[in-house]
Amino acid sequence: MLLDQASLMLAIGFSGAALGVTLFIAWLSARNELFLFRLVVGVLFLVLGAAVFSTYRESYTVARHFAGFALLLVGFGIAWNSARQFRTGSAPLAPMFAWTFAAVAACGVPFGLGLDGLGAIVANIASAALLFATAAEYWRSRAEAPVPILLTSVLYAVTATSFSLCALALLLDGDLALAGAPDNWAEEINAVVAIFTLTGIGALSLSLHLSRQARLHKSAAMTDPLTGLLNRRALFDRFGSESLAGPVAVLLADLDHFKLINDKHGHAAGDDVLRQFAATMRQLVGSQGVPARLGGEEFAVVLPGAGAVEAETLGECIRAAFAAKGLETLAGPLACTVSIGVAVCDGPGEGFEVLLSQADDALYAAKRDGRNRICVHNLQLVA
Ligand code: GH3
Ligand code: MG
Ligand code: MG
Repeated sequence: MLLDQASLMLAIGFSGAALGVTLFIAWLSARNELFLFRLVVGVLFLVLGAAVFSTYRESYTVARHFAGFALLLVGFGIAWNSARQFRTGSAPLAPMFAWTFAAVAACGVPFGLGLDGLGAIVANIASAALLFATAAEYWRSRAEAPVPILLTSVLYAVTATSFSLCALALLLDGDLALAGAPDNWAEEINAVVAIFTLTGIGALSLSLHLSRQARLHKSAAMTDPLTGLLNRRALFDRFGSESLAGPVAVLLADLDHFKLINDKHGHAAGDDVLRQFAATMRQLVGSQGVPARLGGEEFAVVLPGAGAVEAETLGECIRAAFAAKGLETLAGPLACTVSIGVAVCDGPGEGFEVLLSQADDALYAAKRDGRNRICVHNLQLVA
């Protein structure tokens, strides 16, 4: 034996415990992140498993061997569920309980019969299966952050492979009942691999959690909470910084006499109207452009590549659809209309703010001409 197994297991236990504490502290500041919490619980079981394995060599019993594996399998089952939670956002616990129980039972039977060699083979295969399943979950989430997620997936797969090797070494030995703790080349590889992968997986999980939180905060800062549309800041971030590559059109929409709705039916009913206008607009704009709520009852749509005809057609669609819509609100059904100003930039050079202020002029003209209508900037100047 080149390496002292007991010390390796202690090292795994200590690094796992440190990792669990770090992940737990990270989870405290974002308690909705269930994947992290479940990973902490999983790591806790792995630490307990490593603690059992650090002592079973000197005072070997079959029961202790089985207890170590049972703790590891529970830990791996929870880690698998945590990976599923990471990918789907809501991983039910039942499959985890079912598979973990099946794995513990499958190795528990031979251990119970005193066939600890066979029990260890089954336990190693079950560990590898749970770890490969975890690697697959991360593999399927890779679009979110390819480098750290692929690395996490690889580390789980490497750990799974090292458990497979342990099963293979025991199979090659062919002893169904062992005189003591298994002691072969694969056990050594497994322990060394576990130290590296546990630390690596912990650090990567933490970085995945932090980058996901940063993305969530950024998206919250860019989204209007009432309608779910982009807000003014997001729209200016996207289009406001440089001169437009053109052609591009902007629609500026403002609900008519909206203050009256609030005054007569209450603010909550007004909110319902805003939400339904946003939904109508989002649906009609589709993938043609970028809708946003600029503030209050004022909305904008940026249509990259659109000319005056397309912009006016879309604006007219939105106006007509909203005017015809029976709006469901807390105060009962209501009707509301919208006025829209359109401005178009045909070539490069113009700034977004200029285009927006031209659309605002057109909107003002639409209001002045009686509301529930659409005005195009240049046409309005000519008229
Ligand atoms: P106009 O046809 O000239 O646009 O008249 P208006 O009443 O729509 O315009 P005005 O600017 O006088 O009123 C806008 C109102 O929108 C006033 C404000 O209380 C209301 N408002 C702004 N933000 C919200 C919101 O988030 N929810 C609700 N319910 N009302 C809002
Ligand atoms: Mg208004
Ligand atoms: Mg207004």
